[in-house]
Amino acid sequence: MNAELAFIGGSGFYNPDLLENPTTVAVKTPFGPPSGDIVLGQISGKNCAFLARHGAGHRFSPSRINYRANVYALKTLGAVNVVAISAVGSLKEEIEPLAIVIPDQIFDRTRLRTNTFFDDICVHIGLADPFCLDLSHALWQAAQKVGCSIEKGGTYVCIEGPQFSTRAESNAYRRMGFDIIGMTVMPEAKLVREAEMCFSMLATVTDYDVWREEGVTIETVISNVKKNAASTQRIIQEVVSHLPVKDGTCECRHALKDAIVTSPEAISAEALDKLRPLLGKYLK
Ligand SMILES: [Zn+2]
Repeated sequence: MNAELAFIGGSGFYNPDLLENPTTVAVKTPFGPPSGDIVLGQISGKNCAFLARHGAGHRFSPSRINYRANVYALKTLGAVNVVAISAVGSLKEEIEPLAIVIPDQIFDRTRLRTNTFFDDICVHIGLADPFCLDLSHALWQAAQKVGCSIEKGGTYVCIEGPQFSTRAESNAYRRMGFDIIGMTVMPEAKLVREAEMCFSMLATVTDYDVWREEGVTIETVISNVKKNAASTQRIIQEVVSHLPVKDGTCECRHALKDAIVTSPEAISAEALDKLRPLLGKYLK
């Protein structure tokens, strides 16, 4: 199957209500099991896939999500575009709770997560712009069309969690000019780029983080994401009807070209077998 668009739902966004004719598939990967079964179905007649990032019953904390298995599974299902839906806190007064942001940059503060598919070989991909500019623009246009007010651009600082940040950290991130804060965009963005898929995000703002609030509660986070679920679904529905955004010409789709440093003869048969869905086309 060739899924035009895969979307990964985060906290509070567990049900892909917008998929028609849904079926679920359990995908096995050499990196272990994904967070859960993947739901396949159609939106506006196009094949799409949905994965709940935290698994059924929200089992996995941000540090324990098997990001590699999730992204690998979507790649083997033929996905070419991946949209992450994530709950975030706001670090700016003007980005109010219930706003939706399409960030364009990431600052990675995670430290306990495996962040590459390439354990056994040396691959250096470019990540200057971690989100696909074309897909992000298409999402923004879709939001305009369905009448959702949306912030385009902004830096997402990704913390390890699972605790929310301290007030000192939150204030420091503000001074560094970051816009939103969350726990899951990394290493998701790195892995999606390594898998040569386009990546973008609808970040739903749930709270003002602790720089402005007494504290962040998970109840507020989940209840605000649910309030935004209808808007995010409408945006996804609209963007799907306009895919492909650009006929596979964007740079994300060629991220591994000139990035594989290890010579082909130095790659073991075992590594090649595992990585074939990702880089097979470059190693004849
Ligand atoms: Zn792209």
